Parts: sequence; C-alpha cells; structure tokens
Amino acid sequence: MDSSVHPRFPFIESELRSFHGQAADTPTTISQEMEYINTIGKRFVAAIDRFHVHRALLAALQERYGLAACCILLKGDPFELFIIPCHPLSTSFLEEMFQKIASAAHVIDFPLVSAEQLANSAYFDAPDEVVEYRTQEDIEGAQIGSVLNIPLTIENRIIGMLSLFDVVVGAFDTNLLKLTSMIADYAAVALENTRLRERETALWRQAEHERQRLELIINSMAEGLLITDAQGAIVSLNQFARCLLAQAKIDFQTAMPLREVAKKSNVLWLHQLANVIDQGLMGKTAMNQELMASGRQEIVPLTLSISVAPLHDVSGKRILPIGVVAVLNDVTSTKQVEQLKDEFISVVSHELRTPLTAIKGYTQHLIRRLERRLRKARTTQPEVTPSVTDLPENYDLHSLYVMQSQTEHLERLVNDLLDRSRMRENQFTLEYTTFYFADLLAECVRLAQASAEQHTFSFIIQQQNTQVVADRTRVSQVIGNILDNAVKYSPQGGEVVVRLEEWEGNYLVSVMDQGIGVSPELFDHIFERFYRIHNTASREYAGIGLGLFVAKAIVDGHGGKIWLTNNQHGIGTTFHFTIPRKPSSKGDAS
Ligand code: ADP
Repeated sequence: MDSSVHPRFPFIESELRSFHGQAADTPTTISQEMEYINTIGKRFVAAIDRFHVHRALLAALQERYGLAACCILLKGDPFELFIIPCHPLSTSFLEEMFQKIASAAHVIDFPLVSAEQLANSAYFDAPDEVVEYRTQEDIEGAQIGSVLNIPLTIENRIIGMLSLFDVVVGAFDTNLLKLTSMIADYAAVALENTRLRERETALWRQAEHERQRLELIINSMAEGLLITDAQGAIVSLNQFARCLLAQAKIDFQTAMPLREVAKKSNVLWLHQLANVIDQGLMGKTAMNQELMASGRQEIVPLTLSISVAPLHDVSGKRILPIGVVAVLNDVTSTKQVEQLKDEFISVVSHELRTPLTAIKGYTQHLIRRLERRLRKARTTQPEVTPSVTDLPENYDLHSLYVMQSQTEHLERLVNDLLDRSRMRENQFTLEYTTFYFADLLAECVRLAQASAEQHTFSFIIQQQNTQVVADRTRVSQVIGNILDNAVKYSPQGGEVVVRLEEWEGNYLVSVMDQGIGVSPELFDHIFERFYRIHNTASREYAGIGLGLFVAKAIVDGHGGKIWLTNNQHGIGTTFHFTIPRKPSSKGDAS
C-alpha cells in the first residue's frame, strides 16, 4: 500500500512530464497543460459554494486518477471534514479512512483529532453524477490500496488537508504530484473564498435579522421614538412618533431641520419639540420635558414627556453630536390622574377649612376671655388668689393654647395641600403688608412651644428694627412649617433655637434643632414635592412631604433663599431662609 503526506515539493524531473506522460517542453503540451489549468481555475472561480468546489475538485482529480474517495479536512472551530466518495464504500473502508486522515492530520500540524471525532463529524457529499455503480461484493471486499495526503495552503498557511483514497495500490502517480498540489491550491483558495462568503452571508443575515427585530421592537414601543441627523432633520421614527407628527401635519420625509419645519407651522408644541432637539444637538441631555401636544381648551390636553440624548460618532472624532435620539411618552393619563387627585384634595381641603376657621375663631375667643378673667383676678383680688397659676382657669388657658397651636398646625397642613398645585406652577399671589418680623417670629415660637412640652424654644434677635414688607400669612406659614419639623424630627425633645438677624440687606431666620438630622446628599431633595426621607416616611413621623416644598415656593416668591446645614456638633440641622426687607422694584409683589 502506498501512503504519504506530501509537503510542497521541490521541482523534480518527472513532473516536467505532462499528465499523459509525454515530454513537457514541447509547445503543444505546454499549451495543453495551460489550457487544462485554466479550465480548472475557471471551475473553481465559478464555484458559488463549497459543494461546487468539491465537484470541481473531484472532476479535476478524476481526470488524473482512479479514485475511491476524496476527503477535505478543514481547520476551524469546529473543524470540518467532507467526504466525497466516487462509489459506495464499506464501513471498514471508511473506518480505516478516518484512521489514516487522523494520523496524517497530526503530521501536518493539525490540532489533535481522533478518528472517532472525524467519523462523528464527517459530512458526506456524494453527488449523483460522480457515484459509480458497485456490486455488494465489490463494496465489501474493497480495501484501501493507496492514499495521498496533500496539505491545503494559502500563502504558506495550512488551512486543511486533501486526502485521496483508492483501492488500487500505486493509484497515485507521483509524476503528477506537482499538478495535484496545484489543483489542491486552487481548491484551498476556492474553499477559503466560499467560507468567507458564507461567513459574510451569515453575518449579513444575522445583522438583517437583528435589524428587523429592532425595527419590530421600536415599532411596537408604546413610546414615540425619533432620530435626527446633525442638522436636526428627522431621519427615522417609529409608529407612535409618526402618528404624533401626523397630528401636527408634518411631512417628515423632508430633509428639513425640525426647527425650520416648526417655523412654517403654527403648532405650538412643534416649536417646543424643535427646541428640545436643538438642545440635544448642542450635546445636552434633556429628561422628561413636558409639552402639551393639544390645545389647553381640552379638559386634559394630550401631554407628552420628552427625553432627548445626543448621538455621538462611534469614532469619537466629532465633538458635536451626529444626531439626536428623542423618546416621546404620552403622559396624558398620568396628568388625568394627577388632575383628579388635585381636584379631590382641593375639595377636601376646602371642606376642612370651614370648620377649622370656626374652631380657630372660637379658641381665640375663649383664650381672650380667659386671659381677661385672669388679668382681672390678678388686679382685683390679689389676696384671694395668692398664686394665679394655681387657678383652674390657668389650666384651661394652657389647654386652649395647645388647641390653638394644633389648629394652626392643621390649618398649615390644609393650606399646604391647597397651595401645592398653585405653587408648582408659580400661580400663587403674595399680599404684601408692613409688619415687624420679630413679632411674627415671637408669636410663631409661642404657639410652637405651647404644644411641644419636651422642647425648649429660645428666640434670639440681633436686630432693633425688624420692619418688613412681605406677605405676613405666607411668611408665618414658612416659619410654622420649619418649626413643626424641628419639633417633629427631634422626638427626644431638646432645644430649638430661633435666630433673626440681618444678612446682605435681607432678614435671615435660622431654626436650629437637635433632632435626627438630614444627610447632605438629600439637602436638595427634601424641598421637592411629596419628598420624604426614607427613614422618616413611617408612621412615627406623620407628614406628607409638602411643608418644605411650599416653604421654598413662598421664600422664592419673595425673592429670598432657603437652605439647610448640619449642626457643627453633628446633632440635628439648622434651616435658614432669607426674606428681603421689602420687595424688589422688579415687581415681586405680584
Ligand atoms: P413632612 O410633612 O414629611 O415633614 P416636609 O416637606 O416638611 O414634609 O419635609 C420633607 C422631609 O424632610 C421630611 O419628610 C423629613 O424627612 C425631612 N426633614 C424636614 N425637616 C427636618 C428636620 N428638621 N430634621 C430632619 N429631617 C427633616
């Protein structure tokens, strides 16, 4: 039996012979060989897939040799083995074939592979036109007589191995080795090409599949999605965005920047949308900007929340964005719920206010009567009432003070609730009057002290004249809210120090408590609507998260500032706010 692995051969004498065994240097044989190679080359070039390459290879080899099978083993993960039999082969023939391929593969530096692995992964490609008829006896009796293994190389890189098998001993003519190697080289290039093409097609299919999947997802989104180019012209949009733009009768086919389209349109929200997109084109990210996509005359107008992010060039070479991606959310139903909630709270708060006013009025009335009575007792019968504090009226008066303080607290809560929507939209008015800030603070401190027995209030004024032009009720609402918190968030009691001083032409009020304190990263959040710090959002600390939101709106309305700091000794917080002595000429007194 004849078996070998042939490396790239040095040119040898016998190979100068043609495939017909004639001397090769005559013009006729040279041109015949060239024509032959040309034909083979064309067949390989025309091969559109690996199966065409197999056929072309087999056809070329069959012209040279009698063959039982031709096998192509290709490197890769996983490796591939194609067996192209020229006639039916017995199991023992095949098993031996796998053994031989495995050991030859080892010689040519192919990653270690066993005959069993080869047998399991072999792909049989037996084209009808090449399979010759054999009797059962012939098949059973056939044994491997000759083997020829030729490495498949591309630019000195081994990509696999070609193995030829036949039952006849000495079937492979060593004189034709150079030609066979040349055919193998053609096959290697053709196989590599088809492999690359197949990989490219697979990648393309995968990319196309991903594109379709993405398109499906984007079109099924309940949000509108639109993408613009660097000029702000819409280049892509999904179904929902398309519907929205259709409402504004926008022809998004035009390659016109949205701001230009908006200029020609009288749809208000389109201008807003164009503005937000322009922000994105300047590299800014905009989150949840609300815009009304239908007229205010509707009970609940179609409201969109738009978020915009700049799209940057993947190479990062361009500083400015190459476009913008915008997500439009329909928040109308949330608005609807908010509106219903607002209406409900406003009705309930109004209903609470009427009885509260009566309670407050009658409490005030009773306090005055008792105070008068006690004053009278002190002046008219000093001998009967040696200690006024022991009189039952005095206890009653104290109870009434607590009632008054709590009613004020309740009133502030109701007012906060009533004010919250107006404050959010800055639609509240301030009624300016002239009063003494120190008097107001002293009154607020007295009321707070009345119902906070565990706390000790002190009031420090560093000012002689504390005249101010401001909305007295609103400012008292601010102080009341801060004092309520100082008491509420220091459940162990302690000192509450209220200070009034002058600061840069404004009055500065500070309220220091010894309570649970606030983490610095939450300093800004606690002024947000309904914001409550997690550890205080329990029943232990009753509240709704509106007090500071309303306080900030009132202070802002006066042109002042509100902030907080942690106390130096690490316990509790100090809230500060400023109120200008009088409204600025710019018309703060709206
Ligand atoms: P609330 O009704 O919850 O008191 P506020 O708007 O007045 O609402 O306060 C918002 C949140 O700020 C509170 O829930 C609390 O967590 C925190 N806070 C306010 N004042 C203080 C304070 N003096 N000490 C500690 N935490 C405070």
